[in-house]
Amino acid sequence: MSSVDRTTADLLLEWDRTRPRSRQRELGWSEVGGCRRRAGYRLAGMEPADPGGSLQAVMGTAIHDAVQQRLNETAAEGDLVEYPVVFAGVPGHVDRYEAATGDLVDVKTTSSRRLDHIRLHGPDRPHLFQTDGYAAALAVAGVRVRRIVIDYIARDTGELYRHARRPNPAVVREALAWLRSVRETDLDMLNREYQPDSPFCGHCPFRTRCWDGAVHDRSPLSVLFVEDPDQQRWAERLERARADKADAAKREAEAKGALDALRPDDETTMVDVGLVGKGLRWKTTTSNNIDIDRVRAEYAKVGARPPIKPSTSTKLVFAPLPDGE
Ligand code: SF4
Repeated sequence: MSSVDRTTADLLLEWDRTRPRSRQRELGWSEVGGCRRRAGYRLAGMEPADPGGSLQAVMGTAIHDAVQQRLNETAAEGDLVEYPVVFAGVPGHVDRYEAATGDLVDVKTTSSRRLDHIRLHGPDRPHLFQTDGYAAALAVAGVRVRRIVIDYIARDTGELYRHARRPNPAVVREALAWLRSVRETDLDMLNREYQPDSPFCGHCPFRTRCWDGAVHDRSPLSVLFVEDPDQQRWAERLERARADKADAAKREAEAKGALDALRPDDETTMVDVGLVGKGLRWKTTTSNNIDIDRVRAEYAKVGARPPIKPSTSTKLVFAPLPDGE
């Protein structure tokens, strides 16, 4: 690509790929608890076949760098900034440790939509594993962490949400069990934790290697069948998944109907139902859809039909076999 063809996005991604952190080949704490397969590639020392990375990640990196620069200028005695640690043989970098408070602080950037989810359900498992892993690493080094703080910043709104908790040995044990299971499992047997069209796979440096081997002209997921060509088992799994889905939809409808008994007249009122950290709120939304029957009738009046756009989809349905099979 010539320099004139490079967009700003290309330049940002190039910058990101040349950073030492992006060139790291070994498994780091930021990946513990995420995709097992990706962790397996790291542990096996596989060379990434894809560039990986995303503009969102670049924005996160730029925010990290700005925070780090400011902290380096203002750090007090005993504070740690961008501090390298190794725990259970896995390296990582503590964003900051504040000696005066005993706070270990990690900064994460996300979308406002994801931030709403985190505020309601708490940090994702890899974030818990990573920060408790860092606290354990500092404890081994004789640095006592009193509180773990994760500052989540929404890239699109600039909103900041601060999650704080005490270090939790149970989380460290869970992270170590996760690591052990990945280390003890053959690479080919490690779960692909995400779908090939998800952002996780889209930005994964092992995407090509991971989904290589799919049937030509079929879904990338067909590689799962190539690796395990037990058609009956896959069909049973599909049948069971659909039954579970139908059962979940029934249970959801029942619970929603039962809880409607509590619905306040004023939709701004939150109802506390005794769940930790969350209540219930009813939201009514109105959407304006085209009244297709009326549109058809209007066109019919002048002897015309509304324009149509063909759309094709492939459905997978169960159908009875012909008699005798
Ligand atoms: S491509 Fe997706 S499933 Fe495969 S290793 Fe990467 S994140 Fe995991």
